Amino acid sequence: MPRSKTALLIVAAGRGTRLGSEIPKQYLKLAGVPVLRHALDRFLACDAIGPVRVVIDPAHRAFYDDAVSGLDLPPPVSGGAERGQSVRNGLRALAIEAPDRVLVHDAARPFVSDAVIHRVLQALDETPGAVPALPVADTLKRAGGLGTEITGTEDRSTLFRAQTPQGFHFKTLLEVHEKTQNIATDDAALLEEFGLAVQLVEGADSLFKITTEDDLFRAKQMTEGALEPRVGTGFDVHRLAPGEKITLCGLEIAHDRTLVGHSDADVGLHAITDALLGAISDGDIGSHFPPSDPQWKGVASDRFLAHARDLVLRRGGRITHVDLTLICERPKIGPLRPAMRSRIAEILELSENRVSVKATTSEKLGFAGRGEGIAAQAAATVLLPADDQ
Ligand code: MG
Repeated sequence: MPRSKTALLIVAAGRGTRLGSEIPKQYLKLAGVPVLRHALDRFLACDAIGPVRVVIDPAHRAFYDDAVSGLDLPPPVSGGAERGQSVRNGLRALAIEAPDRVLVHDAARPFVSDAVIHRVLQALDETPGAVPALPVADTLKRAGGLGTEITGTEDRSTLFRAQTPQGFHFKTLLEVHEKTQNIATDDAALLEEFGLAVQLVEGADSLFKITTEDDLFRAKQMTEGALEPRVGTGFDVHRLAPGEKITLCGLEIAHDRTLVGHSDADVGLHAITDALLGAISDGDIGSHFPPSDPQWKGVASDRFLAHARDLVLRRGGRITHVDLTLICERPKIGPLRPAMRSRIAEILELSENRVSVKATTSEKLGFAGRGEGIAAQAAATVLLPADDQ
């Protein structure tokens, strides 16, 4: 499926502060990362997802800006008083992208999985709507309320708990939202109201919505308790030859030499890429992008780095820090350092304070000292689920 055809709408406009915090639950931090960002990172690491909009309460803009730091997203959409209005505003904002399909997701469900996303999208080949759901485990009793007599027992085999992301044919969902002011708690209900088919696909227990203190505790256990730090290192060297410019840390820099290699020979990004792959014990840059493969000839190395970032995210991990040292006499790195940090942070979707760029000369000794090449070494710190095998 082409990347541009499936849009993502995250509804984060809720004021749900009933967890005893001043901060709405979608912005509470799990392992130092806002709930909304956990969900976003998982969606953005999925190749199927194209345009993204997040609907927020404008009063939460500062929380939002912190949550999406380093991500290249369009400005947030303002939500309405009701969830339905928020979704409608988001769909209208997405309409200019003309997506075929849209996934609508509650920001308070941080643990989205690739598998669920793909099950929902696959079901949309058959029906205009699809909802991830789970069977009900508890026996269901009917009664007027707690403390009142039971009047019946429901057949739970035909009842399911609906989750998100719910998937829809984009035009269909926009149309039903424009036709009704229904304040249903989910979007599938609108299609059902108009007699349009919505099918259930298998959800996931980990997709639970953070609503109660218990949910928050569980989410914290899943993130803070179960992540362990891994450190990887990377080292790379590329030769210098006569030329006009070099590509270093994702920047094109005018120079009287050029770096030689199969790709753009960006020795800085290569060292960081290897450090990330090392932290997740997943081979090296050569095993993912063999120099013998012509498709990598001359490519910009930000692709390698972005790939390593996605590999970390797909394993439920996150990059907490990268530290790079460039070893060369020239060019002088000092004046370039802020732009290098900024570019690396952009590629890794991190804030700049999680990226360090340092430089040293080798006192005119060795190949770097003689200006025959540039060397780079990097360390990357990654948090990975402790049960990652
Ligand atoms: Mg290299």
